[in-house]
Amino acid sequence: MTRNRRGPRTTAIHAGEGVDPVTGASAPNLVMSTTYAVDASLGFSAHDLTEDAPFIYTRWGNPTVRQLEAKLAALENGEAALCFASGMAASAAVVFSLLGQGDHLVASDTNYAGTAELFRGTLPRFGIDLTLVDSSDPAAVAAALRPETKLVWIETPANPILRLTDIAAVAAVTGARGIPLAVDSTFATPVATRPLDLGADYVVHSLTKYIGGHGDALGGAVVGSKAAMAALNLEAGIHYGGVLSPFNAWLIARGAATLPLRMAAHADTALQVARFLEGHAKVRKVLYPGLPSHPQHDLARRQMDNFSGMISFQPAEPGPAVAARLAERLQVIHYAVSLGHHRSLIYWIGTDGIMDSTFGLHGAQLDAYRAYAGDGVFRLSVGLEDAEDLCADLDQALA
Ligand SMILES: *Cc1c(COP(=O)(O)O)cnc(C)c1O
Repeated sequence: MTRNRRGPRTTAIHAGEGVDPVTGASAPNLVMSTTYAVDASLGFSAHDLTEDAPFIYTRWGNPTVRQLEAKLAALENGEAALCFASGMAASAAVVFSLLGQGDHLVASDTNYAGTAELFRGTLPRFGIDLTLVDSSDPAAVAAALRPETKLVWIETPANPILRLTDIAAVAAVTGARGIPLAVDSTFATPVATRPLDLGADYVVHSLTKYIGGHGDALGGAVVGSKAAMAALNLEAGIHYGGVLSPFNAWLIARGAATLPLRMAAHADTALQVARFLEGHAKVRKVLYPGLPSHPQHDLARRQMDNFSGMISFQPAEPGPAVAARLAERLQVIHYAVSLGHHRSLIYWIGTDGIMDSTFGLHGAQLDAYRAYAGDGVFRLSVGLEDAEDLCADLDQALA
């Protein structure tokens, strides 16, 4: 593997891009063409594609998307990346291209709602068996593995409770059995954590969040080995077809150029807001990996170079009433789903509701979730505004 030896800021700006050889343009071109004039020797099937093939058709590969893929691969210290139309398209691409009837998936029991619903609701219909585990305990992952386990999927920090999974510890378990490990690293970003360096095989991102960073472009990506990305492109990119629009790639690459600077600011502001909330009378509990009170703060310090901008907190009063107040009164923070934007966003996630709709946990796994979330949490995505303004906004709305 070629190691990326430049610093993350330089990489975020320059990787995948260069001065245009024809026009001298310094900023990247946006290539919207769906097809490309080629010579007549090329075959017609995607199976004929060689690594050095020219661009043929944009679903097979596009120059602007390719530039973003090179940037993402460099940021993650991976060999290659492949972009999709959304984070969910990227996740579905990995799962459906690696698993088939009779196979078994082990996945963390707490993760992004769309992922959890895809795993629990859709995979069984295709004859794929699923075991959900609390992956913060690597022994629970090891105990769930079977001969037919073909993929382990973890998310860290996990939506919405910010529970961490020790990637290196889980990779030691999966690596020993030759089972691929996929990590949804959307909350961490490559600025905080590089899962491939820790032994993972696939890193999945919703580019819609921090990497794009501005709330104006859906996208997703998978990063891994060249061989794995070529196989994923053939199966999922070309044949499932959920590829990224070049226009979105262009927007997301522009956002990604400032990712290290933005993440430094997100983390700095989030720590100030987390401390403010921890001292607030209307707040029962704050979860932020950068706070010493986070149950896995030591792991966060080992695994994350940046604690990111996501905070979850339990209100002292019943959540739905507080949510209604926040939605009505917040002036700066938007009461809205999604995360990782320059604008701060907040949303209530009630424990009973998400158990019914999405996670379906019982017994010890439900107890472990409640130990973090209680009856529910506000998921706060701390944006790039001034910390003092965010604290004042929360203070007046919580009062
Ligand atoms: C948003 C999100 C996704 C899905 O991404 P989309 O771009 O909305 O499809 C997947 N995983 C995590 C952790 C997310 O936050």
